[in-house]
Amino acid sequence: MEDQSKKVPFWRSLRTKFALTYMVIVAAVIVLLNTYPVLVSQDLMYQSKKASLQSQAAVIASALAGPEVLTAESVERTITVLGMPGVRRVMVTDPAGQILYDYNNGERAGTGGRYALIWELTTALRGNDVFRSEYREGAFRSRAAVPVSYRGMTMGAVYLYEYDTEQGALLLGIQSNLRSMSVVICIVAVIMSAVFSQALTRRIGALLRAIRVVREGEYSHRVPVTGGDELSRLGEEFNALTDRLQTTEEVRRRFVSDASHELKTPLASIRLLTDSILQAENMDDQTAREFVNDIGEEAERLTRITEKLLTLTRLDNALPAKIVPVDVAWVAEKVRHMLTPLARSAEITLESRLEEDCLVLATEDDLYQIAFNLMENAVKYNVPGGRVIVTVFRRGEGRACWVTLRVEDTGVGIPEGDMTKIFDRFYRVDKARSRAAGGTGLGLSIVRDMVRQHGGAVTVRRREPEGSCFEVSFPYYAEKEEMQP
Ligand code: ADP
Repeated sequence: MEDQSKKVPFWRSLRTKFALTYMVIVAAVIVLLNTYPVLVSQDLMYQSKKASLQSQAAVIASALAGPEVLTAESVERTITVLGMPGVRRVMVTDPAGQILYDYNNGERAGTGGRYALIWELTTALRGNDVFRSEYREGAFRSRAAVPVSYRGMTMGAVYLYEYDTEQGALLLGIQSNLRSMSVVICIVAVIMSAVFSQALTRRIGALLRAIRVVREGEYSHRVPVTGGDELSRLGEEFNALTDRLQTTEEVRRRFVSDASHELKTPLASIRLLTDSILQAENMDDQTAREFVNDIGEEAERLTRITEKLLTLTRLDNALPAKIVPVDVAWVAEKVRHMLTPLARSAEITLESRLEEDCLVLATEDDLYQIAFNLMENAVKYNVPGGRVIVTVFRRGEGRACWVTLRVEDTGVGIPEGDMTKIFDRFYRVDKARSRAAGGTGLGLSIVRDMVRQHGGAVTVRRREPEGSCFEVSFPYYAEKEEMQP
């Protein structure tokens, strides 16, 4: 099938893009989660170690500071008095860097008399406090060295070395917890992205399928709508569009079938009449003339129907008409004048009550057609001695000001159940009467479509005590206001 060839490539599909975006975001979160807290904890531990180790070294240095030259014995004595700090190594040197005291891992180291080639110590002997700490293989290795100064002279230096696995283990614990959390987040993210992207593509697929089905002409097809997200809205809009298409298609089909039926009837009559003339032997002139007259009437009827159909098609296509201010009262008067002979022959009196300044924006031809159809019907569906009353008036103020054309008659009236249907194409309450009066069943449809096109409304109701009352209203066009800048 054609549609299969239009399959979206994997790398361009929404599903892939969605899953990839999800993965990138999750990866970024995991990297952040595994670095930031560890770095912050490391820094905090560094700061606390620096403070404690340096202060311990400073305490020893200030205890050793004095006028006498430092010796191994004096240092040992002082440290014994102070108490051994809880570190792995304590070293004290003289100003030349020669080791006076070295206590390593709980015992005396045999380094006495040697020179300490430790960077921290040599820096301290130059009068600076030094601290260095590094975290490696689960342990903090921290070193602090301070000079022993007396009256501006460097008498020696104290060096402390701490090897801490306790806080290292804490950091390791944090790291391993974060790693476990990352694994869980990864698994959840993969599952969720798979589920969401699957659901997304499934729903988009259903919409695409529905569009294809409707495109093939299956207008009754609808897409199931679940949830309340954007895709559901899309589904609802699609269904509403398809509803509209279906209605339009049904109206079109009914119209075509009704129109062909209406055209068939006069054509069948013409055919019948011509056959009768051809088959009749010795038909007298008078009868032949009557038959030809009937054929002429049917042809006229066909012309009327096609003209009205053309008018409706023009309205359907809604070609932009050039609208101008038109006085409804003036148009109504013109139609009344035109229909006077017809009314006189049907023994109907035409009355009119017309207000002044009833301007609306429309075309004169359309307004004429609307008034003509309504007033002609009022005469056609009337009884001898009946009346037709045409009123044009203005009601309301400002934007809510409307001009109304009311056509009342004292005729046969319209049954309540047919009131809404008479505006449908080809609908006639009394088919025989309409036909006898030269009706096509299209007059009121034309009225309705034209009125709508000019932003108006048409209504019909029973007239008491007899007859019907049609009203057409349009927004009033206020000429004077319009002329102001
Ligand atoms: P038609 O060409 O048959 O007059 P219309 O569309 O003008 O078609 O009217 C549709 C039907 O509505 C008519 O056939 C008629 O039965 C009914 N109708 C219209 N106007 C009137 C009226 N003033 N009084 C009674 N019936 C009417």
